[in-house]
Amino acid sequence: MPPAPGFLYRNGGLHFPRLGLWMDPSKPVRSGEWSVVTHAHADHTARHAAVILTEPTRRLMQARLPGQRTERVLDYGDILRSEDLGEPAARGPFSVSLHPSGHILGSAMARVAYEGDSVLYTGDFKLRPGLSSERCEPVTAQTLVMETTYGRPRYRFPPTHDVLQDIRRFCTESLECRMTPVLLAYSLGKTQEVLAALAGCGLPIRLHPSAAAMTRIYAEFGRSFPDWSPWDPDSIQGHVIITPTLRPLLAEPGRMREGLRVASISGWALDSRRPAGPRDDSTQGGVHRRFPLSDHADFDDLLEFVTRVQPRRVFTLHGFAADFARFLRRQGLEAQALSEDDRQLDLAL
Ligand SMILES: [Zn+2]
Repeated sequence: MPPAPGFLYRNGGLHFPRLGLWMDPSKPVRSGEWSVVTHAHADHTARHAAVILTEPTRRLMQARLPGQRTERVLDYGDILRSEDLGEPAARGPFSVSLHPSGHILGSAMARVAYEGDSVLYTGDFKLRPGLSSERCEPVTAQTLVMETTYGRPRYRFPPTHDVLQDIRRFCTESLECRMTPVLLAYSLGKTQEVLAALAGCGLPIRLHPSAAAMTRIYAEFGRSFPDWSPWDPDSIQGHVIITPTLRPLLAEPGRMREGLRVASISGWALDSRRPAGPRDDSTQGGVHRRFPLSDHADFDDLLEFVTRVQPRRVFTLHGFAADFARFLRRQGLEAQALSEDDRQLDLAL
């Protein structure tokens, strides 16, 4: 492995101490350093003093973490030099650019050039095109730091088109049987993918308030969806329900109301040992179907991504980081896990 690349894995993200720069720290950075926020999921944001991000991420982050902060908004592909950052002054020198990562609206990979090296930090990403996110655009870099949530060969997703077709069929068949279809999907990203997939079906759709809030912001950025309304938990019958939590739909603790057909929407549907619902629900037995739709790269995507970035060295983060690094080393690449964190966050957001 070449010399240390000048960054550390710290607080769930990267820290470049010589540059005064962070990527996705999960604890607030208020030390006069800048933080790149790749996207607005909870495990990638915190109340930082100064952030670099895309405009959709800025808007989503303000909705989820309102407050005063110094914001430097970048369009995809723009190159920002450290001397142009203003206050707080970066230690630099470096340049940073953001590139679509295909994960959710506004999500970005960050490419940092400094000291003759280039580092691409992916944040969360996927190569498969989504219905509501920008399409991923890999760029080359000497050092690649990548998320490896699904970094084992068993995680290969079926074609998205087929999964979405199955979800549509689940909804229409449930309603035909006078059952209420409940799609369990987290509120930022997954809700909007599922909602967009229901376009043209003519189904009455109701959203949990947190999903509704995020969907309105997507619409501000020009994303179009079929008609929907915020839900009233007491009058959901006859509608398609999209919600990140089953709590409001419980008849009593641990028991779902009658007449619901619940489907969880998560890449972990490929793994029967994983829980089917969000961690805050005690209703795992109440999930009737699991659909493997994910906004993360699957194993084949991860490999293809490495090929397209053409790195000299790879560092892996999140999920099966050690397994995937080992796999790359067997292919002759220099690769090392920065984290071996087997706690999966896909369902906790
Ligand atoms: Zn994410």
